Amino acid sequence: KQEKNSKNDECVKVVVRCRPLNSKEKEDGRTQVVFVNQSRGEISVTNPKGDSAEAPKVFTFDSTFEPEVEQETVYKNTAYPIVESVLEGYNGTIFAYGQTGTGKTHTMEGKDEPKHLRGIIPRTFDHIFRSIKGTPNVQFLVRVSFLELYNEEIRDLLQKNIKKLELREKPGSGVYVKDLSTFMIQDQEELREKLLHGRENRAVGATQMNQDSSRSHSIFAITIERCDIVNGESHIRVGKLNLVDLAGSERQSKTQATGSRLKEAININQSLTTLGNVISSLIDPKATHVPYRDSKLTRLLQDSLGGNTKTVMVANVGPADFNYDETISTLRYAHRAKSI
Ligand code: ADP
Ligand code: MG
Repeated sequence: KQEKNSKNDECVKVVVRCRPLNSKEKEDGRTQVVFVNQSRGEISVTNPKGDSAEAPKVFTFDSTFEPEVEQETVYKNTAYPIVESVLEGYNGTIFAYGQTGTGKTHTMEGKDEPKHLRGIIPRTFDHIFRSIKGTPNVQFLVRVSFLELYNEEIRDLLQKNIKKLELREKPGSGVYVKDLSTFMIQDQEELREKLLHGRENRAVGATQMNQDSSRSHSIFAITIERCDIVNGESHIRVGKLNLVDLAGSERQSKTQATGSRLKEAININQSLTTLGNVISSLIDPKATHVPYRDSKLTRLLQDSLGGNTKTVMVANVGPADFNYDETISTLRYAHRAKSI
């Protein structure tokens, strides 16, 4: 039992990244209230409304990333070990969590040019195919799918039509999305095309359906099947990498959210809360039940959370005074996901 716990503890990492003050915030004279100590894995937040005697709140994580950190450093410390184990046939999941505007998409996708601004997803493409080319005696099959979860409805981002897809369960083989398209991939260029294509469909669909894409979760999933020949016999192993850009965690103000927007807010809340509960119960040696079934997001990812899988949650925060409440709420969420 103890062994299982220490292993799970290793398999779930929670890290926090703080973005820099942007030019608008600087123009508006906003002050920075978030300070990162990378070497100690600490992040401290000063209450802008508190009196001068109020001590900053300090949180500790597996890693913390200061505003100036390079995308490459974030990759090495979060995604790199997960991609390595997916190439060995294990599942892995990387989440970006946080309030809208704090850098989730910057962390997951980044900018294509200049190259050093590329985020985790495009970096995994190069990593995967570099490794495959460096292992010529093993046969690899790479497949990809890309979906969006909006208001508990699943939509295929690699198809033009915007019909809803159903979550199904097959005894023995687990949860899957019926009719979700998957594509065989030959090289990193093809993965890049799928990412761009999905991004486009997401934007078009959001406009057609009058959706706010900050309110949806997206999952870019890369499946890697490897066939090793051992003593003349072939051994197949399959690993799956889920790259998840979560919906904005901000609370909708009660006066603004009504009707369908309120329903959205409730659904987002439910899925993010369940995700936090699932992650903390995976780490908790006393937990006997992992509440995967409480949201579509965690049901979808059930095979890639817990067990022999590796998970990283990157919680993103903004540095400015006016985000104080949301920043504290994100740090509490992230910390709870990590606490026993
Ligand atoms: P989110 O996806 O959480 O809503 P974005 O990733 O879209 O947030 O980031 C909001 C804006 O801030 C974007 O213009 C993005 O380029 C910028 N940004 C976010 N994080 C960073 C960072 N670490 N360094 C520089 N710019 C950043
Ligand atoms: Mg985003």
